[in-house]
This record gives sequence, structure tokens and C-alpha cells, in this order.
Amino acid sequence: MIKADESLSRKRSRLVKICDKLARSIPDPAIELDFHTPFELLVATVLSAQTTDKTVNRVTPHLFRRYPTPSALAQADLSELEEILRPTGFFRRKALHTKALAEALESRFSGAVPQRMEDLLTLPGVGRKTASVVLFHAFHQPAIFVDTHVGRVSRRLGLTQSTDPGEVESDLARLIPKEDWGIAASRLLLHGRIVCLSRAPLCERCTLTPLCPHTAG
Ligand code: SF4
Repeated sequence: MIKADESLSRKRSRLVKICDKLARSIPDPAIELDFHTPFELLVATVLSAQTTDKTVNRVTPHLFRRYPTPSALAQADLSELEEILRPTGFFRRKALHTKALAEALESRFSGAVPQRMEDLLTLPGVGRKTASVVLFHAFHQPAIFVDTHVGRVSRRLGLTQSTDPGEVESDLARLIPKEDWGIAASRLLLHGRIVCLSRAPLCERCTLTPLCPHTAG
């Protein structure tokens, strides 16, 4: 029985069990976006807004062949860039953002992707989620990325009550050991995509059922 006023220590020990179970069901929570460099991951993550990772992966091979560096992307012809990005939706805005992003990397960071959250957040089109994805997956730094899946699964599991991504991140950061932030967020995200679906969570085949207040009562 999971009490509504569950203490922090009980919640932490429940989360340890949740993470153990997720580690068994999702042993390799690899990011689904294809990338070879931090620059490619940064751009791909910006492009993944409002579309699927698969769609981004169809576009980025051509994009990075045409514009392999921030310098090349900064000098891109906007209409040509728009055509390449068209399948990802909102392509005009994304073309402007990615070009501005490349210009900022060139002018302020010598063409390199910065490795600090506060620097990443100064880049056009880069919010905390994108910055955290890059910090963890490109630079192997502890970071919690809260997208719609991580937020929803965390609320259903009673790890947070907030719908604000920043507050969800803070709540998870208090519960999860820092060295596990990225891997735990990756598994919560994939669990949300595969099992704890938005409209109809597949509780009958979820290994977390005994640990989940959403189905406990
Ligand atoms: S038991 Fe249901 S609501 Fe809880 S995490 Fe699993 S799928 Fe989501």
C-alpha cells in the first residue's frame, strides 16, 4: 500500500525498486536520435520538438552531409535549409533556430558545443530538456531531462505532483542519486513511450504495478 503522505525516505526506497525493475525491462536505454558529435546531437534534439525521433533520423544524414559543422550551418542558405527540414514540421522556425544556433556556437563558443548548463541555455532554441539531453548523452554528465513522458510517468508513479518540467526535475533530483540521473530519466522516458502510454497505460503488462499508486487503489 502506497500512502498519499509517503515520506521522502520511503519514496526513495520505492524508487530504488522502480529503477531496478526498469533496469531489467530496459537494460540498454539508448537515445533514439542518431548522432556522431555533440553538435549533431544538439541540432537533432532541437529538431525533435513536435516530431518523432525517427523523422529526425531520416533528415539528419542529409543535413549533416550538407552542413557538417556549425560554421557550415551558420552560412546555410535559409530556403535550402527549410527544404531539408520540411519533414520535421514547423520547418521555417526550425531552420531559423538551427541557423541561429550554429551562428551562436561559432561566434561565442569557437564552434564547439559548451559543456555547462548555463552556457547551453544561452543558445537559441535550447531549453533545459535539450541541454540536459546533450549534457548526459554527449558529455556523460549527470542530468535529468523532463519531457512529456518523464513528467507523466513520474506523476503516475507518485514521484512528483507537478506538471512544471523544472519542478519535476527538482523532485526527481531529490530522489535519485546524482550519478543515476541520466540513466533513470532515460528509462522513465522509454517506459512512458512503450508501456505507460499517455491515453491508456498498459498497466496489465507493466512490471511496476505493485510500486505504482496509479493502479494501487
Ligand atoms: S502501473 Fe500503469 S500507470 Fe503505473 S507505471 Fe505502470 S503503466 Fe504506468
